[in-house]
Amino acid sequence: MGFFREWRRRRTLKNARLDEALWKQVAAKLSFLRGLPEADTARLKQLVVLFLAEKEMHGAHGLHLTDEVRLSIATQACLPILNLGLDVYHGWVGVIVYPGEFRVQKEEVDEDGVVHTFDEELAGEAWPGGPVILSWEDVGMAERGYNVVIHEFAHKIHMDGGGDPDYPAARESMDATKWRKTLEQAYERFCAEVDSGEPTFIDPYAAEHPAEFFAVMSEAFFTESAVLARDWPELYAQLALFYKQDPASSM
Ligand SMILES: [Zn+2]
Repeated sequence: MGFFREWRRRRTLKNARLDEALWKQVAAKLSFLRGLPEADTARLKQLVVLFLAEKEMHGAHGLHLTDEVRLSIATQACLPILNLGLDVYHGWVGVIVYPGEFRVQKEEVDEDGVVHTFDEELAGEAWPGGPVILSWEDVGMAERGYNVVIHEFAHKIHMDGGGDPDYPAARESMDATKWRKTLEQAYERFCAEVDSGEPTFIDPYAAEHPAEFFAVMSEAFFTESAVLARDWPELYAQLALFYKQDPASSM
């Protein structure tokens, strides 16, 4: 990290105050924060202050962003990077929040090379090197195992942090082959479970694509860690190394 950035962050932390009453209000709605040790909560708050100072959040379609909305999104965005640092979110500043699901135009090229355009309703979207887009209605539907903010920021960590379109690169401290193998095997197992028609605890949307599997499993890792550690122990262990956190141990 550059000297100037470090200096600016120290100054931000010295001058900015987090509204404690508002923090309590926001944290009370995020049940997965309950098990977080006190020292980690203190560090999370610092990250949130820096996130709010360095990123720009905008409401779209007339949505007014209250301090509570800003704090809630920043808190959920910062949880995955608690031990990785804010520089993981480098090279972009924008978070755009729509009141509800938003419509985007997608293009797909078929086998004959014909381009098809179609509209899609989304709860969230992340652009490489660009903004994160969220539907506030869907942010509000956060529950154990489902969290659109963590989902989109997991995509962000993936797409801006190296790797290929399927999976993010392993951290330097990790066994890259084991990381990759574990993800691939878990994805295969999950797709087979979905294909069998049995109800899955994890959102079946995760079977759409390996990148979606990583994002959905990241949601579960932070918001339903004990269940993930029980049902997907190898995957949980790898995600713990990737995020440098072990949320199930503090449940
Ligand atoms: Zn996704």
